[in-house]
Amino acid sequence: MTETNAFEMVASRIGAVCDKLKLKDTHRLRLEKCERELTVNFPVRIDDGTVKVFTGFRVLHNDTRGPAKGGIRYHPDVTLDETRALAALMTLKAAVVNIPYGGAKGAVICNPKLMSQGELERLTRRYASEISILIGPERDIPAPDVGTNPQVMAWIMDTYSVLKGYSVLGVVTGKPIGVGGSRGRFGATGRGCMVTAKLAAKQLNIDFQGATAVVQGFGNVACSAAKLLAADGCRITAISDSKGGTYNPKGLNLESLLNYKKQTGSVVGFADSESVTNTELLALPCDILVPAAIEDQIVKANAPDVKARIIIEGANAPTTPEADEILNDNGVFVVPDILANAGGVVVSYFEWVQDLQAFFWSEDEVNHQLQRVMESAFGEVLEMSQSEKVDMRNAAYMLAIKRIADAMEARGIFP
Ligand code: NAD
Repeated sequence: MTETNAFEMVASRIGAVCDKLKLKDTHRLRLEKCERELTVNFPVRIDDGTVKVFTGFRVLHNDTRGPAKGGIRYHPDVTLDETRALAALMTLKAAVVNIPYGGAKGAVICNPKLMSQGELERLTRRYASEISILIGPERDIPAPDVGTNPQVMAWIMDTYSVLKGYSVLGVVTGKPIGVGGSRGRFGATGRGCMVTAKLAAKQLNIDFQGATAVVQGFGNVACSAAKLLAADGCRITAISDSKGGTYNPKGLNLESLLNYKKQTGSVVGFADSESVTNTELLALPCDILVPAAIEDQIVKANAPDVKARIIIEGANAPTTPEADEILNDNGVFVVPDILANAGGVVVSYFEWVQDLQAFFWSEDEVNHQLQRVMESAFGEVLEMSQSEKVDMRNAAYMLAIKRIADAMEARGIFP
């Protein structure tokens, strides 16, 4: 479904915003490239005794504002180009919410759904040791993304610690609580979506109580966003996974749906509701649409069908630039990925701070600080959007790129 090459798409948005901000060419040229890219091909013993060679990447886009931060994706279709694009989005995301990080991303081309726990552990440990020359708490700090989870982070932390000869809690975030994880991390991205959805609804004078929401995806981000939106009064009318979606205009019972998915492996066919395709789901009538699955879901072809008044981009890059223009023309209020799904990196930052200080916070403290950061970032992006008369995505890019350019200016060029 990709309409343009993924990194080109992000780089051209960055370039356009740099021009709008009248930045020096050097700043634009630096942001249009990734600073460091590592490709690794490494062997993993499979359960049947054979050996397979896997390919992985770790890309650091920019670390002007601090150590690089970004998830690790395990997916059969992931590419170096996509990893670059995701790394660049991380640089911007950290700058929008004003946390002292640069951006990075990692990936391994594999299908974790078809691998045993033993195979996944061996793959993860070998990948971690291959990229250990780049990562570290003061350099580049991975976290979970699609296809990886807290267990994978614990294996990376353990492998890195074995290589160092002592425990290094701060090398990854999104870890289990017992090995330096943060309370509130698992649901943090979804919580950030909920906070921005509420602020967007307020901006558009939509009563959040009883507002209807459609969520694409049923993973970490989608599930936590759906639960928190429902807990705060929204009616979740549709939800989907990779096999399709389920729709009930009266509202879905999320607990029953979770159990149904556990039993059957999908949300499709859930009782008292209508099955819909992912394309149909995106065009359902609702106040708030949360694409929280994968990229390139709202494209030129289906953007005119979107009926939502607000889009909260839980996923990274779910909307293509062509689709964005159509949504803007149709008056849809889009809270862009680098703001809407920044809750995860914010609590990852809190986790890293807690690891470095060896002092851990309560869940209430984490949620309170997350809300404070998200509200402040939303307010700053909205202000930029109003003062510069641009949409929220351009405003978020402008705010982020201005912060990065100011940091580049302050640091200068060495030597
Ligand atoms: P996940 O693996 O937990 O969930 C992904 C979900 O997407 C699953 O429910 C899967 O069934 C669904 N899916 C896969 N292919 C699909 C398709 N073709 N159509 C519809 N649904 C499909 O991943 P996640 O961590 O929830 O991440 C989801 C998105 O959010 C990704 O874009 C990720 O980069 C982004 N994100 C995640 C975090 C985080 O903290 N996990 C933070 C920021 C952004």
